Amino acid sequence: MIYNIENIKKDFPILQRQVNGSPLVYLDNGATTQKPQIVLDALEKYYKEYNSNIHRGVHYLSQIATDEYEVSRNKVKTFLNAKHSHEIIFTSGTTGGINLLASSFSKGYLKAGDEILISGMEHHSNIVPWQMACEATGAVLKVVPVLEDGSLDWESFKTLLNEKTKIISITYVSNSLGTINPVEDIIKLAHQNNTPVILDAAQAVQHIPLDVQKLDVDFLVFSGHKTYGPTGVGILYGKENWLNQLPPYQGGGDMIKEVSFEKTTYNELPFKFEAGTPNIAGGIVLGVALDYLNSVGLENIQKHEEEILNYANERLLTFENIRIIGSTPHKTSVISFLLGDVHPYDVGVLLDKQGIAVRTGHHCTQPLMDRFQIPGTVRASFAMYNDKQDVDKFIAALERASQMLL
Ligand code: PMP
Repeated sequence: MIYNIENIKKDFPILQRQVNGSPLVYLDNGATTQKPQIVLDALEKYYKEYNSNIHRGVHYLSQIATDEYEVSRNKVKTFLNAKHSHEIIFTSGTTGGINLLASSFSKGYLKAGDEILISGMEHHSNIVPWQMACEATGAVLKVVPVLEDGSLDWESFKTLLNEKTKIISITYVSNSLGTINPVEDIIKLAHQNNTPVILDAAQAVQHIPLDVQKLDVDFLVFSGHKTYGPTGVGILYGKENWLNQLPPYQGGGDMIKEVSFEKTTYNELPFKFEAGTPNIAGGIVLGVALDYLNSVGLENIQKHEEEILNYANERLLTFENIRIIGSTPHKTSVISFLLGDVHPYDVGVLLDKQGIAVRTGHHCTQPLMDRFQIPGTVRASFAMYNDKQDVDKFIAALERASQMLL
């Protein structure tokens, strides 16, 4: 298939706009992606034509909304190649999914002295919930270090994994460095140790084709808004066996079978983990966003983004004063860097003045920044709609910023 970047760009109305007098070059896709027209249309259609609460109404609109919500759950099941659609839990996002797991694992499963293994490149949302779980249960957080090139210290991983390791929760792709972790090997070793693995796939599902059954991963979480869908919705995938064993996260409507003041029984999967009125529009439209991703094809996107990443990397390396943080070849879609000893914020502001949107700061990975002894980075992160011209404009703007700052 020919990757028709012009057509793809046209599908995203926001990419036509100007920012600070220049055409927008959007390179902050790690933070959130822009939305294609079909996603915008589907959101409007929901609110205009069948807005209604789900799973409880007998009336016409409620039935349509319920059907569409469940159709979307099925699309996610197919997207991840899960075995059952009840293994797909709608959440508020990656953060919501990890908090659900950390909370549920704290009720009965984790005991004092148990170990939870994460890595040194985790997003705060895959650190803090586990610190809270440790506080609640007396479990201990263990951290696999990150090597100078931004890859996981595999030897340390093997040493740290032991019979006390009760959970491994690790990012598939680092949002700050772009590093792709060797998740297949991690899962294999973990299972030899009877340890379940949670994958934070917030930066993976939109870049890398994946199959939860082939990976044999126990849990996987991601966010709708990073996969060209709406904010406020995400997915927790869990193996049926595990989800059946775990206690519910929140109590409320929809997650119950029967309630009396004496005793409440819980609903079956997936509803046991879906208390209250969810983000109905978000859930439905997430399915539309995944349709869009599939229509372009993840293999095609992966190949295209790799080209863009390599091109941007080559161009950045022509600067004298650039330090790239994270140089392992196993990377996707992210370049983090520093310009001389200039604070990343100053670079970001000057790029913004020229219409280039990048992210600056610690990217919610403060321990990782501490490991590299830096305050933060400038991060350019790519999506399916970025092309070499975007990179050229970014480089030209960076040259101007560099002339002003150095
Ligand atoms: N994990 C990673 C690797 C991320 O990049 C992000 C978002 N930057 C999150 C977790 C949190 O995602 P959300 O804010 O959508 O819950």
